[in-house]
Amino acid sequence: MGCGVGGSYLYSLLTRKKPEVEVSIFDIPHHTRCGIKGCAWAVSSSQFMDLCQEAHINPHKYILGVYDHVLLDQSNLRVAYRYASADKVKLKAKVAMIDKPLFIEDMLDEAHPLNPSEANLTTFDRIIDATGFKRAYLSPYPSPLIVGTIQIRAVIEPPSFPTAIMNKGGGYTWIFPIGKSEAHVGSVSLQGIEFTRRVLDEVTKKINVERIICSCEEQIRGHGPVVPFIEGKVWGLGEAIGLVDPISGVGILPAMTSAKLLLENWDNPRKYESHIWAKYSYMTKEVNILSKFCEGRLPGYQELLSLWSTFRNTGISIGPREIINILALASRVRKGGAEGFFH
Ligand SMILES: Cc1cc2nc3c(=O)[nH]c(=O)nc-3n(C[C@H](O)[C@H](O)[C@H](O)COP(=O)(O)OP(=O)(O)OC[C@H]3O[C@@H](n4cnc5c(N)ncnc54)[C@H](O)[C@@H]3O)c2cc1C
Repeated sequence: MGCGVGGSYLYSLLTRKKPEVEVSIFDIPHHTRCGIKGCAWAVSSSQFMDLCQEAHINPHKYILGVYDHVLLDQSNLRVAYRYASADKVKLKAKVAMIDKPLFIEDMLDEAHPLNPSEANLTTFDRIIDATGFKRAYLSPYPSPLIVGTIQIRAVIEPPSFPTAIMNKGGGYTWIFPIGKSEAHVGSVSLQGIEFTRRVLDEVTKKINVERIICSCEEQIRGHGPVVPFIEGKVWGLGEAIGLVDPISGVGILPAMTSAKLLLENWDNPRKYESHIWAKYSYMTKEVNILSKFCEGRLPGYQELLSLWSTFRNTGISIGPREIINILALASRVRKGGAEGFFH
């Protein structure tokens, strides 16, 4: 159930590695121009390549660009994203932008998802809940940390590096290049969708957007893993079980990785759960960092260490100096933050 990146990757692995399993795939229609749910398509290039190798796929077919740095930014955007600025932190990275719609299409290998309303769930031995933030088949997990995002795809002179501008009170606005003349420009914030819309409007004005190709609004889970991952015959993966980095919003590779772990532990639900928990429990610490920060408190030493996992999963290399720089930047954001855009 759900042919996003996690569900379609699992489908591809199953058809190659467990041909004896009879699989039916279901999804609901998308109304976006790209044909998938809204996403900015950024991944750690090395982890993406490893996961492609697992499914015998050529990753280069999907990579639109690879970047050796990302930029964390506070304000004065037009200056900061092209040149040096005191308000930015430049981090070493191995980040790729992928053609995610094409990747999903290829994973499904001409199989067409069926309409879930026509599924007779009693006839299946197993149901995989890969329905993303909707978590449609596992028991509901409402949370104030399921937040709205807004994104546009724009014709623009893109920044040299993927750029993230920290929003006041948590969340960020991103400008992620797509090739040489386009970018995804989007925003997520804990301050509500109207604030997010306002920040995005201001940013798009400042970066000289030539033309907006399309736009989408989508929700994203920012609360970390939700247990149990399995209820009866329903097994969850990806964002349906909360596998999105609460700070970075990165969820593509966690969805694919959980699909791989699900396949590896196909007959052992407890092992699947423990592998997921071992790999992604750090996300819970991130939520604590975020909430402390929003309350104006400093995170503890252990929590700061967990930032290392966040950035590694995002394809960004950081050491103690970078953590200090990020915190310094973040504390300026806490004081002035997104307001920097408006003056
Ligand atoms: C604006 C935005 C930008 C993002 N940018 C990035 C990024 O740059 N890098 C990154 O790593 N992550 C990013 N993310 C997060 C990432 O997109 C998700 O975490 C990731 O796609 C989750 O994969 P998934 O397979 O678990 O779920 P999804 O990709 O959300 O797929 C879920 C699928 O389930 C289907 N579905 C929903 N309800 C039902 C139902 N009832 N029955 C059947 N099917 C159903 C949906 O139509 C969808 O196809 C972004 C998210 C947003 C919203």
